[in-house]
Amino acid sequence: MTAQLIDGTALSRQLLAEVATRAAALTARGFTPGLAVILVGNDPASEVYVGKKVKACEERGLRSVLERYPAELSEADLLARIAALNADASIHGILVQMPLPRHIDPHKVIEAISTSKDVDGYSVLSAGELMTGLPGFRPCTPYGCMKLIESTGIDLKGKHAVVIGRSNTVGKPMALLLLQANATVTVCHSGTPDLGLYTRQADVVVAAVGRRNTLTADMVKPGAIVIDVGMNRKEDGKLAGDVDFAGVREVASHITPVPGGVGPMTVTMLMVNTVESAERAAGRP
Ligand code: NAP
Repeated sequence: MTAQLIDGTALSRQLLAEVATRAAALTARGFTPGLAVILVGNDPASEVYVGKKVKACEERGLRSVLERYPAELSEADLLARIAALNADASIHGILVQMPLPRHIDPHKVIEAISTSKDVDGYSVLSAGELMTGLPGFRPCTPYGCMKLIESTGIDLKGKHAVVIGRSNTVGKPMALLLLQANATVTVCHSGTPDLGLYTRQADVVVAAVGRRNTLTADMVKPGAIVIDVGMNRKEDGKLAGDVDFAGVREVASHITPVPGGVGPMTVTMLMVNTVESAERAAGRP
């Protein structure tokens, strides 16, 4: 069997077209969705990520406010700026690009963002909302993975999903989202002694590790859905996931490529969350 590709670029395009329609409807009512992006310092990778987010806003009719600060910005000044954005009715999402300079506590910063504007879904309150099934904002990468799985048309009810990785931003929220969709969920991590023992039983595998070839063909049940979150650089500088794509695609029923799978979905879901936030603030028509 050669797996069907789950095309994250195409799905992103479709979701972003819906975002643009929703943003235009909000703008017509006087509520243009606004995303504030804060960048402290000049980390080159952060510059690229921030640039992508601002561009995505501009292309879909959202307003982006990019605030750049020098690396010397004090924690108190950053917290004061976040407080001002929390109170600004024209801003519906606040995002502080990580990593921050060492003298600023990222936890304090994330917790300072109002839950109603936490479109990254990283705060403890947002995590609690996800945990308890309340309608908060879901972290963008796992939320995007759920959309990719949904796009296969396969119902997760009764399926066994294995998540490899347990980070607060990907693995753990991924497991909770799969649980919410009625999958039976196993979470593996660096302390899991025989990863293949679990993945071979899985109808869905989500790999979020950051290590190439973590999942190989012999570890995959025939017909499984495989979602590859990993972003690793190969020796030639090209991007590779955590999955041995060439081998696993011969066993799986559906698989995401890297690049072109999960990658484009992360910024897309940020746009979805921001429009959702603006709709909540405006009240549904
Ligand atoms: P992370 O915080 O480093 O977490 C990695 C997880 O993998 C940890 O839970 C770790 O276990 C586990 N792990 C490490 N080695 C393992 C092994 N041999 N077997 C099983 N589990 C193992 O990374 P992350 O932020 O979750 O990101 C994971 C990957 O996804 C990275 O490549 C990152 O670049 C990528 N990513 C991509 C996107 C995107 O938009 N496409 C977004 C976010 C992240 P322990 O907890 O035991 O240490």
